[in-house]
Amino acid sequence: MKETYCFAPPTIKSLEIRDRVERFPVGRLFCVGRNYQAHAAEMGVTVDKASAQPFYFNKHPSHILVSGGTMIYPPETANLHHEMELVVAIGAMGSAVSVDEASRLIFGYAAGLDMTRRDLQQRAKDRAHPWDVAKDFEQGAVLSPIVERQGSNVLASGLIELSVNGDVRQRADLSMMIWGIAELISDLSRYYTLGPGDLIFTGTPEGVGPVVPGDHLIGTIAGIGRVETTIASTESGRGFVD
Ligand code: MN
Repeated sequence: MKETYCFAPPTIKSLEIRDRVERFPVGRLFCVGRNYQAHAAEMGVTVDKASAQPFYFNKHPSHILVSGGTMIYPPETANLHHEMELVVAIGAMGSAVSVDEASRLIFGYAAGLDMTRRDLQQRAKDRAHPWDVAKDFEQGAVLSPIVERQGSNVLASGLIELSVNGDVRQRADLSMMIWGIAELISDLSRYYTLGPGDLIFTGTPEGVGPVVPGDHLIGTIAGIGRVETTIASTESGRGFVD
């Protein structure tokens, strides 16, 4: 018997795929912390790859804002930060895959913004609390259309840049990542069986900083695409909506 629901079930979030009619249905959002040395430094830490391991947090896929949309400045923060990131889209299933095998899981790439309530993150760090309220909030993950990977090579370099109102705030190269894409997929697949639809935010370079209502953010990754949003005031998002 067909199941029925007491209200409409949540809709699947999906992203446009460049030059294709079909869309990419999003499964899970994984995010990597501290994957560029200069960003780790601005957060007050040094990453020693020899002894450290990548670490992860998650965002709920319903929290995706498709590039071009307006972002309501989220509540309970006075320090909303941009983090410009390369996002890897997974297109095949894999568990505990080796670094060499990891590339087979890649469907393509996108440009993403891992928006962060930095004040709540600092409070969480101070109290050894989880980061969820700092990272996982409505519209907190902004995503460009997906570009399918060409051939079997893994993206290893390319300019990644973010500007706010035309001023460049973040500018680095993907080659500066501490753990490369294949290493991240291999490591994350030890903890989770990755599968089609999963997205991995690969960490932000240095230059993160605050945004305020009225700001226009444009992030670009060479050969991959462009993600953008405009910040609107909190008040415009308050109240009940039916
Ligand atoms: Mn991030």
